[in-house]
Amino acid sequence: MALNPIPSLKSFANETIFSYTCHFSTMSDNLLVYINGEFVPESEAKISIFDHGFLYGDGVFEGIRAYNGKVFKLKEHIDRLYDSAKAIDLQIPIGKEEFIEIILETLRRNGLRDAYIRPIVTRGVGDLGLDPRKCSKPSIIVITKPWGKLYGDLYEKGLTAVTVGVRRISFDALPPNIKSLNYLNNILAKIEANAKGGDEAIFLDRNGYVSEGSGDNIFIVKNGVVMTPPTINNLKGITREVVIELVKKLNIPFRETNLGLYDLYTADEVFVTGTAAEIAPIVVIDGRKIGDGRPGEVTKKLMDEFRKLTETEGVPIYE
Ligand code: PLP
Repeated sequence: MALNPIPSLKSFANETIFSYTCHFSTMSDNLLVYINGEFVPESEAKISIFDHGFLYGDGVFEGIRAYNGKVFKLKEHIDRLYDSAKAIDLQIPIGKEEFIEIILETLRRNGLRDAYIRPIVTRGVGDLGLDPRKCSKPSIIVITKPWGKLYGDLYEKGLTAVTVGVRRISFDALPPNIKSLNYLNNILAKIEANAKGGDEAIFLDRNGYVSEGSGDNIFIVKNGVVMTPPTINNLKGITREVVIELVKKLNIPFRETNLGLYDLYTADEVFVTGTAAEIAPIVVIDGRKIGDGRPGEVTKKLMDEFRKLTETEGVPIYE
């Protein structure tokens, strides 16, 4: 019996990279990556198969953006990285100032002004057991890539979202506030949204309250009031915080409150926020048109104000 030929590794790699290029630039630019004290080309950046970040998702990460030569909310992201690490009892072996310098230096060495930045700290190399005590030294990695809009041209016409059956993992199991390397809960939601034809998934928590998107926080606007759920069962998003500040500055009434599906379906506007997504309007949820089915005025105003802020604020990379 003839067996199907196994695709060569090379063609498999090409395929993978091809589908990945939808949004990210590929490895072909071979930028430098910081990995445990060295700057090495992406193609040579390697991590041990015994690293518990790889074996168990035991580690933490951040997603940060630089705009126009400045890193947006760098201190806030670093603080969250160290808080995530603290929550899993992972001691990052360098100080916050040094970490910031490594990020800036990685950007400089790659000549980047607009970029997506991915710092990662793993438990480090151990044995095949779970015990973190076997891992003597955390691995520190910083990847920087040019990156545009997560949702491409959907920002103008708005995204379609679907609520998913998989619940946001509960704060008393694995707190969603830990930005850990274990993103399977989020990936399951994304798989479900893909299968249902949604651009983004909306999680409910185990009590049925609206939690967040697969990689972003969620807001609604109803009768002129901007509302978002509290952050016990979702990530304390840094963009969420920026948006709340903008809402207050614009004198728009704001409430942090539990939301149900009814609130989503009957909202005048819905949008999600995140470093990758920025502010993205949602115009259909589970087949219900939100408002008039187009990005709303409050959302558009916030998108505009957010863009102005990202262009002017941040830690300079090159000065
Ligand atoms: N929620 C989840 C699950 C995320 O992964 C992210 C992005 O990191 C966010 C929300 C938004 O957080 P931030 O605005 O800090 O990027």
